[in-house]
Amino acid sequence: MKFKVKKVDRSEGLREALYIPGIAVGLKHTMRHFFRNIVGKKDVVTIQYPEEERPVSQRWRGRHRLTRRDDGFLKCVACYMCETVCPAKCIHIEAGEHPDFSVEKYPVRFDIDELRCVFCGLCVEACPKEAIRMDTGVIGMAYHSRESFNFTRDLLRDTYTPNEKTKYTDADLPKPLDQQSALPNSRGIPAP
Ligand code: SF4
Ligand code: SF4
Repeated sequence: MKFKVKKVDRSEGLREALYIPGIAVGLKHTMRHFFRNIVGKKDVVTIQYPEEERPVSQRWRGRHRLTRRDDGFLKCVACYMCETVCPAKCIHIEAGEHPDFSVEKYPVRFDIDELRCVFCGLCVEACPKEAIRMDTGVIGMAYHSRESFNFTRDLLRDTYTPNEKTKYTDADLPKPLDQQSALPNSRGIPAP
């Protein structure tokens, strides 16, 4: 197979040596776009964030949330599937005994380090109870400290409106008795 070689003439003439024509052509294009944008806003792609936000696709994976059962308790049964599958090792769960004997366990701790998370969605895929979702639409997470990205169970849990089926309230979700003695998280650093 033969290739045809095309030679580009890059020899500089008087026009290139003067620079002025090139600058004039550049300015012409700049001014054309400037006036087009001023008058018609045809080419403006700038988003005035955060006042203005881009619409987020429903399939976009945003910040996690922990869903609830009809009775108000978390759906999560602390099976560790999401923690096991997480490639970034950023989920940390500790199981506790559920007050309802028909349910074995629930997460006393459920922390996600959103700074380590790669938003792959594998935790959502792995969950057998549809207890974790990434459909909050929250994609902008900017905080001043690293600790702020460590989302705890109580930050992640879904809000809900109590109704006639509601049996448990948020007060029924106790925190670990001793935060200091809690197991080290996935990074091997004791939880705050
Ligand atoms: S989205 Fe991926 S990286 Fe983030 S917590 Fe879930 S499994 Fe881990
Ligand atoms: S969120 Fe789902 S996968 Fe993760 S521990 Fe709870 S029930 Fe298991």
